[in-house]
Amino acid sequence: MQIEPLKSWMPQAGKPFVVAGPCSAESEEQVLQTARALKATGLVHLFRAGVWKPRTRPNSFEGVGELALPWLQTVKKEVGMLTATEVASAKHVELCLKHGVDVLWIGARSTVNPFTVQEIADALSGVDIPVMVKNPINADLQLWIGALERLNQKGIKKLVAIHRGFSVAEKLTFRNSPLWRIPMELKVKYPDLPLICDPSHITGDRELVESVCQKAMDLDMDGLIIETHPHPEKAWSDASQQVTPEKLVQILKALDIKSEFSPNQNFDSHLEEFRRQIDRLDNELLHILSLRSSVVEKIAHTKVENSVTALQRHRFDQLMKERLDAGKELKLDTAYVKEIFDAIHEQSIKEQTDYFNKLKK
Ligand code: PEP
Ligand code: MN
Repeated sequence: MQIEPLKSWMPQAGKPFVVAGPCSAESEEQVLQTARALKATGLVHLFRAGVWKPRTRPNSFEGVGELALPWLQTVKKEVGMLTATEVASAKHVELCLKHGVDVLWIGARSTVNPFTVQEIADALSGVDIPVMVKNPINADLQLWIGALERLNQKGIKKLVAIHRGFSVAEKLTFRNSPLWRIPMELKVKYPDLPLICDPSHITGDRELVESVCQKAMDLDMDGLIIETHPHPEKAWSDASQQVTPEKLVQILKALDIKSEFSPNQNFDSHLEEFRRQIDRLDNELLHILSLRSSVVEKIAHTKVENSVTALQRHRFDQLMKERLDAGKELKLDTAYVKEIFDAIHEQSIKEQTDYFNKLKK
């Protein structure tokens, strides 16, 4: 992908690049009041407001639609802020371009659908406008990349990826599970692609927004998109996750912004020493895993001789329980230990069934 750096088209953006504004544009007054308050902070680079709202159930507020586009024009002209909104069809694109919206974004529910993304990309062919692409609802990195590529192939080079979390079966603390590994993988694959975090849709809870902002900064993300409303509890959509402009300032000022490198030589040599320790430990881990595999092969052999299945449920339950207890003793995170032993056990079963199949041939 050919990507133009954020700095070249949003020179005022600092670190973090901040996008803020209400989930939905509700009235001209609400839009202008929010935009004025955000402009006054001096910390926000782009004003967001949803005009067409994808809602899970019908008969809830689906955005005021086209009517809100002139309000965004007023934000631009009278408040002096660049504006952004979500587009989900060629018609939306056409209307946004007609009303001079500065930046478009594709929502999570559209990113999942290649037909929709292609329709939007076709409508943008030959248009020089920045587009931000939210991750798809489901945890599929390829789908996210595919959407970015469809736009890029139509000449959109001012791209931004927005990490807004994923819908997963078990909802724990967050509305949308962040699965940080996925945006990190995107960052490694496309280091030039600006990547920003949407703590509002990840958390679904304004009380948790601040900690997710810090986490995104600690992962070296480039910016944040934060839903901001003058009276969040009265918002027509996503009332529980929006923050006031005052709270936004507080959150942004409290951020501890680190950088990827340090000019301090001592720091580098310290880090090098720790990294050597980590390298040694990782090598030991690999050796242990290899030893484990050779024992698994012996188990497989014994099982074949006695006609016993590779998976023995009671053994797995007992093994997992023991490992989780041992992990707790060692103060390791339980979810982490579970994930590791799920993977180790899955591999062990695979090695055993492969062994059974090899003997059969
Ligand atoms: C939004 O930004 O208001 C929105 C609808 O987000 P998402 O597409 O991430 O659900
Ligand atoms: Mn929202």
